[in-house]
Amino acid sequence: MAFRVGVFSTKKHDREFLGQATSSLTNLDLSYLEVRLTEETAPLARGFDAVCLFVHDLANQAIVETLAAEKIRYIAMRCAGFNNVDLNACQTHGIKVSRVPAYSPYAVAEHAVGMILELNRKYFRAHTRIRENNFSLDGLAGFDVHGKTVGVVGTGKIGECFSRIMNGFGCEILAYDIQENPALVELGVAYVELETLLAQSDMISLHCPLLPQTHHLINEATIQQMKPGVMIINTSRGGLISTPDVIQGIKSGQIGYLGLDVYEEEEGVFFEDLSDQIVTDDQLMRLNTFPNVLMTSHQAFFTREALLNIARTTTENLMCWAEGKSCPNEISG
Ligand code: NAD
Repeated sequence: MAFRVGVFSTKKHDREFLGQATSSLTNLDLSYLEVRLTEETAPLARGFDAVCLFVHDLANQAIVETLAAEKIRYIAMRCAGFNNVDLNACQTHGIKVSRVPAYSPYAVAEHAVGMILELNRKYFRAHTRIRENNFSLDGLAGFDVHGKTVGVVGTGKIGECFSRIMNGFGCEILAYDIQENPALVELGVAYVELETLLAQSDMISLHCPLLPQTHHLINEATIQQMKPGVMIINTSRGGLISTPDVIQGIKSGQIGYLGLDVYEEEEGVFFEDLSDQIVTDDQLMRLNTFPNVLMTSHQAFFTREALLNIARTTTENLMCWAEGKSCPNEISG
């Protein structure tokens, strides 16, 4: 008998890569649902044995209760972060949860570096000008990345890749983490207190998970501790940054550049084509008006290699569960 899996928040690439990964398997039967998992859509889990979720699907206590009532026994996250899942509620209802802890730290680290280069050298603005036959360099001056100090908050898999790339640029790297990464110490990265990192970095890149301890890590007080004109890059989770506080920091000039691949209120907006709709999020719209803010729609992970690895690991996790084997990627509260 095949285990039925409801894949929420399905996009074209999910169908393609998960479809390929599961095509030869007879004990997994995947159904693709385009909707996000929310309180309204949770009853759609009826008839499935498991659900497969992504970053914008919500599995809070109430939704987990609905999933349990619909006899869901397994949640396969097809992402690394699981801040959107109430693990305690899952445990209470005997629902196992797995994730894809690593699929391509390079993809995310490289995207963060791309954001630094674009904010600094303004390629998009130059390209747009040149297409209008405006070959002026006015306003395009950047800075040498070489020799600058980069602060890395969170030095796990992605933070390590990012640090190695920035080391290649000739930057001095300061790191803050609750746990030192010996490979980075060997590379010459200096672990410091957060206050020191904030005060001494020309660029700060966030690579720690969103937890109660890291929620709004970037706020009015921490922004004030930074160098005037600092560059902040967030490819981790939107909730690490207080949006009103960074808007104020940009308006005052304290923040010189802001690169966001993630945004606190991105659910229901990022990944969607809203080009013929009125976007009602005033903070998002305000961020979009600044010339020194670059936003991407949670695409840092989005490489072919990452999609392939996500599909493979998600399938392996589901197979472990279907065959009653223990799975190294299961997480508990
Ligand atoms: P990881 O678990 O390998 O590393 C996270 C690091 O953060 C660890 O070294 C950990 O010790 C550290 N950390 C934990 N609590 C901390 C705290 N309070 N202060 C400072 N550091 C702390 O994770 P990873 O694979 O490097 O991923 C990092 C984050 O990137 C994920 O949590 C996820 O939110 C985000 N991410 C984003 C995308 C994207 O497409 N934008 C894709 C994948 C992951």
